[in-house]
Amino acid sequence: MLIKDVSLLQSGAILKGRDILIEGNRISKIGRDLKDETEEETIDGHGKLAIPGLVNSHTHLAMTLFRGYADDMALMPWLTEKIWPLEARLTKEDVRWGVKLGCLEMIRFGITCYNDMYYFMDETAAVTKEMGLRAFLSGVLFDARPELTGEAEAFLKDWSEDDLIHPAVGPHAIYTCSEETLLRARDLAEKYGTMLHIHLSETKGEVEDSIKKHGQSPVEYLDSLGFLSNRLVAAHCVWLSEKDIMLLAQRGVNIAHCPVSNLKLAAGIAPVVSLMKAGANVCLGADGASSNNNLNLFEEMKIMAIVQKTACRRPDVMPAEEVWKIATENAYKAFGLNMGLREGALADLSLIDLKKPWFTPETSIRSHLIYSMTGGVDTTIVNGQMLMKNGVIPGEAEILERAQAQFERLTA
Ligand SMILES: [Zn+2]
Repeated sequence: MLIKDVSLLQSGAILKGRDILIEGNRISKIGRDLKDETEEETIDGHGKLAIPGLVNSHTHLAMTLFRGYADDMALMPWLTEKIWPLEARLTKEDVRWGVKLGCLEMIRFGITCYNDMYYFMDETAAVTKEMGLRAFLSGVLFDARPELTGEAEAFLKDWSEDDLIHPAVGPHAIYTCSEETLLRARDLAEKYGTMLHIHLSETKGEVEDSIKKHGQSPVEYLDSLGFLSNRLVAAHCVWLSEKDIMLLAQRGVNIAHCPVSNLKLAAGIAPVVSLMKAGANVCLGADGASSNNNLNLFEEMKIMAIVQKTACRRPDVMPAEEVWKIATENAYKAFGLNMGLREGALADLSLIDLKKPWFTPETSIRSHLIYSMTGGVDTTIVNGQMLMKNGVIPGEAEILERAQAQFERLTA
């Protein structure tokens, strides 16, 4: 596959008239006047910007089915009164169409890889592969559903050899998992060399309960269990002490910051600037579409930047360059992905149509991507496969229809 005459960003500057040659699942060459010996598909990149794939580092993809179902509530009643009762009725078929809907949306926002924790992970994995995305998937572990713990190891074994699906282990949180479940999750991740995924210090109440129960913050408690390492992705990390921040940075924990979900549920504002200063690896996530309510990482980037500026009362913190790095390179590091627009990297990328009002005038494209962009991703490629070309994703109409039908079944 050859992309002709496209623009790309290098150290903030825009380079025009470049060609990107994709062979197999890799970018084999970037340069001028390249030829595709295989005479496969050629894409006209004129007037477009190539960007490396974005990574949604914390989500529950099938929850796209709950989009707009329950808004404007606090986290615990939202979960106990609305989300958990609906999830108790969830079937494999619901998850199939919810995941397809989520994949559609992410392809449209240039997200090529996601990190998920949910139910029916075998189905999620199969559907994600059908849709062509890359994913790190954990079947959620929950003491209220002990049968899920038994399924976790089989899932790790079944998907260990896949090129797109990376199975992982996902205990839900310290307030829903016993010490025994957490230790088992830690040991499984170690045994199979996989990632771990947990919700951590999301609300003030979670921290207060942990101090009452364990005499320690959630971060300190997990550290005492040997749970903190660079194989862990900890979502949220809103309520942190200085000691927590130090521990997360020292242990190399990857933090999936979800600014829109935290703001919408009024959980709070994560101390992202302090985490980064301490050397922690911060990435970006959308969380479930039920608490966001979309999967648009461009929106997460802007909101993270402007909220942190206001929280610190310093407009110079979180410059666009740093924001972009959080959404791309930090995530590649967290998940050990060889991604980026360079020769030899995985061919996971998108093209953005620059002929839009929000990209004009051509002052700083990096700034436009963070602060003014409201759309324009029109081509997405993952693992060398075309998933969307010029705004068209095959099968989209059927997915929208089936997702609607599954929602109606669930809430009937
Ligand atoms: Zn979550």
